[in-house]
Amino acid sequence: MNPRVIAIGEALVEIMRPSPGQSLDNTGEFVGPFASGAPAIMIVASARLGNEVGFIGGIGDDAFGRLLLDRFDEEGVDSRLIQMPEGYNTGVAFVAYGLDGSREFVFHLRYAAAGALRPEMLDPAYFSNIEWLHISGSTLALSSACRETCQQALKYTRDNGGRFSFDPNLREELLSIEPSRRIFDSYIAAADVLLPTAEEAHALTGKNDDDQAAQAFISETKKILVLKRGVQGCSIYFGDKRFDIDGFEVEEIDPTGAGDCFNAAFLTGLDHDWPLEEVGRFANAAGALAVTRKDPMGGAPTREDIDELLAST
Ligand code: ATP
Ligand code: MG
Repeated sequence: MNPRVIAIGEALVEIMRPSPGQSLDNTGEFVGPFASGAPAIMIVASARLGNEVGFIGGIGDDAFGRLLLDRFDEEGVDSRLIQMPEGYNTGVAFVAYGLDGSREFVFHLRYAAAGALRPEMLDPAYFSNIEWLHISGSTLALSSACRETCQQALKYTRDNGGRFSFDPNLREELLSIEPSRRIFDSYIAAADVLLPTAEEAHALTGKNDDDQAAQAFISETKKILVLKRGVQGCSIYFGDKRFDIDGFEVEEIDPTGAGDCFNAAFLTGLDHDWPLEEVGRFANAAGALAVTRKDPMGGAPTREDIDELLAST
């Protein structure tokens, strides 16, 4: 059966400093490799919530690629459209956390298998059952071939009546703000659901006020805009309404992947036709649970995990 939820983009391994305050510009220890990549985490999180999912992307014919494929298999992610472009290794991200909670990245992605997406990788028939296509701005930042492939995937999604969810996931280490703005523009306009963090919304619109940033994003009324706010939860804009939804108190071990788990849960909530506040609470719970574990993909909660947290508050 073809998947209902499809993510396209970078699957990579993450190699991280074991504790905060160890920057990347000196010699020291790392832990990993961990399966990662924003769209890859999102799709595993969606699988854990019970959805039929598929991932489209490039990995290398190497040990890291095998780690990722094994992981997708274990998690029930359809990998028929994952390809191994000749001569490319699997993408890698090195990550360090600052004592102030900031993150530092070194990416090996653009010239790795993750950056070698091609429109020919896509099979139009794969989209026959699609409800949601999810794209991350980090993928668009990689190469024009990645952008063309995402554009084509969006066309196949529309041809089959599917909806489009977009997380700008700004990574200035991959692409600075001005070109990001230009490149993301048509995806922001096309998105049925737009999922930036509040800071990303400010950076992309040049407005420091949430409502003004939201206005700049929502030119027509059908779009749902979510501003993610870390520990503070999220705000949802729809039509002329704004809902502010508090986050859950948890111990933060590793923030990477929270946004992606949030995204997966948000779309799942929409599929249930729940009221938007309830969708936001469900997604906040998913994001909160994600930060309580070190492994970015392994932190993705199941439906039972989320229900337990919701019931306990
Ligand atoms: P990512 O690292 O995946 O890119 P992000 O920066 O896109 O994450 P955040 O705003 O950090 O997104 O987190 C997404 C959501 O996860 C938040 O809106 C919130 O619901 C939840 N969340 C994140 N961090 C915490 C935290 N420390 N405590 C509780 N909830 C959190
Ligand atoms: Mg993010």
